[in-house]
Amino acid sequence: QTRRWQEMDARHHVHPFSDQAALAKKGARVITHAEGVYLYDSEGHKIIDGMAGLWCVNVGYGRSELAEAGYKALKELPYYNTFFQTTNPYTAELGERLAEVTPDGLDRFFFANSGSEANDSMVKIIRYYWSLQGKPEKKVFISRKQAYHGVTMTAASLSGISAMHPQAGLPLPNHAHIDFPYWYGMGGDMDPNEFGVHIAMKLEEKILEIGAENVAAFVAEPVQGAGGLIIPPDSYWPVIQEICHKYDILLHADEVICGFGRTGNWFGSHTYGIVPDTMAMAKGMTSGYQPLSAVALGPRVGDALHNSGEEWSHGFTYSGHPVASAVALANLDVLQKDKLVEKAGGETGEHFLKHLHALADHPIVGETRGVGLLGAIELVKDKKTRERFEGDTGGLCRDHCFENDLIMRAIGNTMVLSPPLSITKAELDELFTLARKALDATAKDLGA
Ligand code: PLP
Repeated sequence: QTRRWQEMDARHHVHPFSDQAALAKKGARVITHAEGVYLYDSEGHKIIDGMAGLWCVNVGYGRSELAEAGYKALKELPYYNTFFQTTNPYTAELGERLAEVTPDGLDRFFFANSGSEANDSMVKIIRYYWSLQGKPEKKVFISRKQAYHGVTMTAASLSGISAMHPQAGLPLPNHAHIDFPYWYGMGGDMDPNEFGVHIAMKLEEKILEIGAENVAAFVAEPVQGAGGLIIPPDSYWPVIQEICHKYDILLHADEVICGFGRTGNWFGSHTYGIVPDTMAMAKGMTSGYQPLSAVALGPRVGDALHNSGEEWSHGFTYSGHPVASAVALANLDVLQKDKLVEKAGGETGEHFLKHLHALADHPIVGETRGVGLLGAIELVKDKKTRERFEGDTGGLCRDHCFENDLIMRAIGNTMVLSPPLSITKAELDELFTLARKALDATAKDLGA
């Protein structure tokens, strides 16, 4: 059976972010079901998912509350749009419930289906905002190198991972990228807080270069995820916010990974004291059980859009989808009932970070860093000089994890973890035993 699925897949399925022919030759691993923090493949392997899918399955797999909520909505109202002066009970309630957990004042929500669409929509909303203010020339978006904000033409232009640009001739005009606060890789002799200020000041430099009158917004994740799990020094965000105020630049927080408990609070903005004008959320919003995202608007942008006095020309067929909204409500219920956000910032997070930092003694680990249930492990040849190994060391380690039935992601030479928030202490013990085994095997291959 596995072979048959692999053959069909190889013939017809264009995979995201994959070398198509190489994958077709190798055969994709077929994941058939999942429960709790474990994935099961068609060959009978039970795999611990250290990444919660793509940083999204916050409540863990197999929660029947979410399945039942989706089933009920599918039977009652499988679909209706929200364009023609209509709403539905699920989406109406979802806005109310989200407003209870978002940072102060962010209480209007535009719904979409993916993080990319949320960020793309945000760009249109903010450009419209500035044009309503009589400043339509404010349309440059400054984001960061190595950022990941999605893959539509605009979201990929906001993204700063340079490999994402050449195949589509990106970035589009009106996008600029500045350095990101990667202390371990770029901090040199500076202490972390000094470095945080130094990098934050790059925003001011870029604004002065472009002219504040042309800049619409600064866009960033509270903790940069796919760009290498970059945890900002404490000094970074306060300076960024000061600069945005000084030059009247809006601040958009991309909370697609950080939202819904990942950093130990409801949003990364809470963890870092950020007061954004707008915010994108997706992934943990339904724990990945349904595609759903939103742009949250604070009063400045939200009121302007609300009171524009004309039709706002934007929206998706599935904006405010009843089934996705019903699942999001059940997901919020589970997060709240099981106190998963509190635990990520409390006992589960502490246990996770204790294990993570214990790996710092490993001969090929240069730094461990983490917050909530996000963790990174830097692989180095020389702990003192931070010299890296040549070649794809991260890929090697990831493959050793895979052989040991653990999913850990490699971003260059950085291994990252983002397990379901529902993970137990015993499961964390198991996860980190497997992680150390994979590090040992990697070190052995490298002769380290
Ligand atoms: N923003 C961030 C921070 C992300 O990590 C991602 C996806 O990983 C996105 C946006 C894009 O979301 P999607 O893949 O749902 O379009």
